Amino acid sequence: MTAVIRASWPGSRNTSHCFSEPMNMSQIQRRQFLAGIAGGATTIVLSPLSSAKPAASPLGRRFKSGLAEQGFDYMTLYGGEDVTQPTPRRGLWRSDKHVVNTAMAIKTYALSWRLTRRETERTFPARMLEILDRYHGQANGMFSGDECLSGKSPTQGTELCAVVETMYSLEHLISVTGDPAFGDRLERIAFNALPATFAPDMWSHQYDQQVNQVQCTINPDHMWATNGPESNLYGLEPNYGCCAANMHQGWPKFVAHLWMREGEGIAATAYAPSSARFETRGAQVRVALDTDYPFRETLTLTVTTDKAVRFPLVLRVPAWTEGATIRVADGSAKRLKPGSFHKVEHQWQGTVEVDLCFPMKVKTSRRYNGALAIERGPLVYSLKLGENWTRVNADKPHRELPHGDFEVRPTTPWNYGLLMDEAKPETSVTFDEQPVGERPFSPEGAGVVAKVKGRKLPGWKLEHGWAAEVPHEPQSSKEPIEELTLIPYGCTNIRVTEFPRIKE
Ligand SMILES: [Zn+2]
Repeated sequence: MTAVIRASWPGSRNTSHCFSEPMNMSQIQRRQFLAGIAGGATTIVLSPLSSAKPAASPLGRRFKSGLAEQGFDYMTLYGGEDVTQPTPRRGLWRSDKHVVNTAMAIKTYALSWRLTRRETERTFPARMLEILDRYHGQANGMFSGDECLSGKSPTQGTELCAVVETMYSLEHLISVTGDPAFGDRLERIAFNALPATFAPDMWSHQYDQQVNQVQCTINPDHMWATNGPESNLYGLEPNYGCCAANMHQGWPKFVAHLWMREGEGIAATAYAPSSARFETRGAQVRVALDTDYPFRETLTLTVTTDKAVRFPLVLRVPAWTEGATIRVADGSAKRLKPGSFHKVEHQWQGTVEVDLCFPMKVKTSRRYNGALAIERGPLVYSLKLGENWTRVNADKPHRELPHGDFEVRPTTPWNYGLLMDEAKPETSVTFDEQPVGERPFSPEGAGVVAKVKGRKLPGWKLEHGWAAEVPHEPQSSKEPIEELTLIPYGCTNIRVTEFPRIKE
């Protein structure tokens, strides 16, 4: 598949990168760091050429081979133990475990495969993601890095630059491999990790977001590996300016890769309200998607052509859905296979409606220290907290409003454990659809609200200015049972997402 909008190959101009403590880098580290980026980014430039002509020229292969020699060897790193270890507090900044380098590198071998056709390169990105999930994975679809890989604890951070670069890598991986799992992963990050890490009005953002983030303050007692005390503030350029520049690639590149060409037809690789135009077999075609997904299960597509034409419409069916259906025009509903691309071969004429339904079933997962996380469809759910925003750093340059710096503190309790029937989570959690707000990714604009029961855990407190580690064993609590309100992770600014378990 190739992106419909050719302007969506900005990787060729994308030199964005960040390293917060360059003074710690030796000349060799700096050379490796920059060469690693140069190798990946230059492969993107080469890649459209190779996709047009699968057997690359000997010159192209020599060029790629030269890049590989200068770039970093992630295959060897991910074959060893070292990458599995979290970077310790006040640990050594390392380019090979740097979270943004890692995010950018996820796509590199797949792009290289377009030139080399080595199967090990095509399959390596999925292996790399599997290792990152196992040792550094976070409930929001990302892996930790504050700013080098920092383990699975929900209070370690993930840098915003890594979020947008992982999305961009996944967009390329869908294009190269045609694997729908990369589309599922892309949506998980786009609808959770991305919107959570900036304020709903997008005037301020964080450097590091936390999955359990109960307050964001200037915190000299922090437990980041190498980042600074302002890393989870909402601000203009907290900790370092890279994320202020980089955050703006997230949504536009996502939109530019929602639709991709597939042969004579078109493929939907991820879903959001959108439209795209293309030409095939002499006909002008417009596809448009009208939906409140991911806050709803239904999606209405319209295909409009200026003359009768036959082409395939290819639709990603998420792996998490059960009982998904499609209806084309006035036809009967047909079942779809989860975790696949479904091809609709049709003689399109005029405007034809295609209705999709992706039922979303609640699921729980056990995470760090056996904590419980709740998800439904592409969305992860977090405890909704009252918020108090306080302006800070007002005397720093360029902090005049609206782009000021802010601390956020909770005005409601956060230390709850959950009462869940993990075998039948649908009996423990209820979901209510709400009108999707003007700002869909805000606490008040959340299109879905969930209710679940829990008890306060008075012993679960702040430690180092953050929520302490989730206790490993199920906890006893004599506090009364309360009904808790959860909203999608991407709608929160402060939150609890990984909850302790309560003994009944
Ligand atoms: Zn950054």
